[in-house]
Amino acid sequence: VAKVKNKLEGVWRLSKLGVPVGDDPGKDFLGISQGLLQAIAKVIEFPVASMLPEEAFSVVRKSFDARKILKEAKFVYTVDLDVDTLLELEPRAHDFIFRLEPKIGLVEHLPPEKIVSGDLISVVNDCKRSDENKEPLIINGTGDPHQHGGGGSSKPKIAVVGGGPSGLFAALVLAEFGADVTLIERGQAVEERGRDIGALVVRKILDMESNFCFGEGGAGTWSDGKLVTRIGKNSATVLAVLKTLVRFGAPDNILVNGKPHLGTDKLIPLLRNFRHYLQSAGVNIKFGTRVDDLLVEDSRVVGVRVSDSSDPLQSSSENLKFDAVVLAVGHSARDTYEMLLSRNVELTPKDFAVGLRVEHPQELINSIQYSDLASEVRKGRGKVPVADYKVVQYVNEKEDDLSQSSSKRSCYSFCMCPGGQVVLTSTNPTELCINGMSFSRRSSKWANAALVVTVSAKDFDLHNLQGPLAGIEFQREFERRAAIMGGGNFTVPVQRVTDFLQNKLSETPLPPSSYRLGVKSANLHELFPAHITDSLRQSISMFDKELPGFISEEALLHGVETRTSSPVRIPRNNETYESTSLKGLYPVGEGAGYAGGIVSAAVDGMFSGFAVAKSFDLFDGTI
Ligand code: FAD
Repeated sequence: VAKVKNKLEGVWRLSKLGVPVGDDPGKDFLGISQGLLQAIAKVIEFPVASMLPEEAFSVVRKSFDARKILKEAKFVYTVDLDVDTLLELEPRAHDFIFRLEPKIGLVEHLPPEKIVSGDLISVVNDCKRSDENKEPLIINGTGDPHQHGGGGSSKPKIAVVGGGPSGLFAALVLAEFGADVTLIERGQAVEERGRDIGALVVRKILDMESNFCFGEGGAGTWSDGKLVTRIGKNSATVLAVLKTLVRFGAPDNILVNGKPHLGTDKLIPLLRNFRHYLQSAGVNIKFGTRVDDLLVEDSRVVGVRVSDSSDPLQSSSENLKFDAVVLAVGHSARDTYEMLLSRNVELTPKDFAVGLRVEHPQELINSIQYSDLASEVRKGRGKVPVADYKVVQYVNEKEDDLSQSSSKRSCYSFCMCPGGQVVLTSTNPTELCINGMSFSRRSSKWANAALVVTVSAKDFDLHNLQGPLAGIEFQREFERRAAIMGGGNFTVPVQRVTDFLQNKLSETPLPPSSYRLGVKSANLHELFPAHITDSLRQSISMFDKELPGFISEEALLHGVETRTSSPVRIPRNNETYESTSLKGLYPVGEGAGYAGGIVSAAVDGMFSGFAVAKSFDLFDGTI
C-alpha cells in the first residue's frame, strides 16, 4: 500500500461497499442513498452517517451480488470521496479523513492526475496540444473537435475497412488527427440494415452482405450490447471508449454499472450519431462497398479494389489509392482472409471455441440465482437486474487411446444474454450459426448463452485440416452439418439438455424457443466429434452443480455456435500495428485476432488509430 503524501487533498476511492437490497433504491438508482452513506460511514468510521453530505461522494461502480455464499444479496459500490467538498460541507470529518489509511482493494488515495474525465475526442485534442506535461490518456481536454490539426496540406489518405467497433474507433482517432479517412463497409447503414434483418427474421431472406454480422456497427449492433471486458473496466482506455459511447448517446449509467450493457435499441441511434460525427469530421463513408483485393506495389499496400456489394453480379469494381489500409473486417469475412492469403499476407491459425447455445426460461434462471429475490426482477423493471450467469469448468480428456494420457479442455458459458433471444448469424445460406441478442430492458421470457469448448490446431488436424485457414474450414464443417440437421431454410436443430445428456432425440412438443426462424428436433449429440460432445456433457453436469436446476426439461440446446472469436490471427508489429508481412497494412480488431467483444475491439481500433497517426507524423506519439 503506497504511502499517502497528503490525506487531506484529492480523492479517496472506497471499494466493496455493500448495501443490502432492502436498504437500496434498486439497480437503476446511481446516486447516494442513505444505505450507501451508512456503508461509507462505517469504512471511514464516521459516527453519524446522515451527517455526511451526499455532494462529497460520487458512485464509480455499482454491481449486484447475489452469490449463494452471502447471507443476503446486496448491491456493491465503489465510491469516490472528494476531500475538499467533504471538508467544506462537514468540517467535523477532518480527523476521520486524517486517520484514514489505504487498504489494498478497499481504500485507495487517488492523486488528481489519476482521474479520467473525458472521451476519446478530448484525448486526441489533448495529444495534439504541445503541452510538455501531457499525461498518458488522462483526459481533460475540451478542444473544438472540428479543429483538425496535424498533417498540414498533404493529409495522409487512410482507408479503414470495416465499420464495426474497431473500424469506427480507428476512423474516429485518425479523423481527429487530421487524416483524410475513407471508411469502407460492405454492409449497409443501420436504417437499411434493420430492414435487411427484418426480411431475414420475417421472410427468411438472407442478404449475404447485410445481416447480423455485416453492416454499420459490425457484429455488435444487433447484439446484447454487453460492454463488459476482460481488459480492465476501470482502465483509462476502457473509460475513454465508454465515455465516447456516452458522447454519442449511450446512457451514462454504462460508466457506473458493474456489468454495463446497451441492447440493440440503444445501439442503433448511437451508431447513427457516431456516423454523423465522423462525416462532420470529414470521413467519407462508403456503405455497400466491399474490399475485394489489396493494391500492392513494391511490397507495400497502395490501395484497395472495391466493388458494389449490393450488386449481385459484382459487375463493377474500382481501384482506390491510399497511403495505408486499416483492416478491421471482423471474424466472419472469410473471403477477405482468402484474399489476404492469396496476397501472401502472413496468417496463423488461432484457438477459439465451438459448441451449442442453451436457452432456459428467464424465470428459471432468476430463481436459480436469486431464490426469494426472483420476484424483484419483474421483466427488467424491478429492483434487481435480470439474472445472468457465467460458468467455467475444465474437463479431463483422453489425449489418445494408445498413450492413455489426458489433457484438460476448458468449457465455459459465453455471451450470456438474459432476457434476450437467439439469432441467426450465418453469412451464407448453406451454413447455419447462431448467437444471442437483447433489447436494453432485457424483458424477454428467455435466457440464452453459448456453452462452448476450446478447439485448437490439434482438433483441426483430426479433421485433416491444415494451414492458416484450417480453423475456418473447421467452423464451416459444423455450420454446414447444423444447416443439414435443421432441414434447411435456417431452421435450427435443437435438443433438450436432458436428451443431449442421454443421447436421444427430443420428443415434441419441444419447449418454446425465442429463435424466430423455426426449430427442429435433432440429434445434436451427433453434430460434433465424440470428444467435443463428451466435454460438453461433462461440463453441463458440472454447471448443474453450480447452478442447481440448470439441467432441466425446459432447457433447449440450439446448434451451432462456432464464431466465438477469430479462428485466424494476422500478425502485426506490437508498436506500429503494421502487418509483419505487408507494409502499409494495419490489421486490427477481432478479425485480426487482437480483440474479442465490443469494448476490446474498440480499444484496439483506438490504439491502431494512434499508431497509424504516429507513423504519418500526425502527432508526436505520446499518449
Ligand atoms: P466486426 O464488428 O465484426 O466488424 C467488421 C466489419 O467489417 C463488419 O461490419 C463487416 O461488414 C465489415 N467487413 C468485413 N469484410 C469486409 C470487406 N471485405 N470490405 C468491407 N467491409 C468488410 N460482444 C460484446 O462485447 N458484447 C455483446 O453483447 C456481444 N453480443 C454479440 C451478439 C451477436 C449476435 C454477435 C454476432 C456478436 C456479439 N458480440 C458481442 C461480439 C462483438 O460484436 C464483436 O466482438 C465485435 O463487433 C468485433 O468488432 P470488430 O470491429 O473487430 O469486427
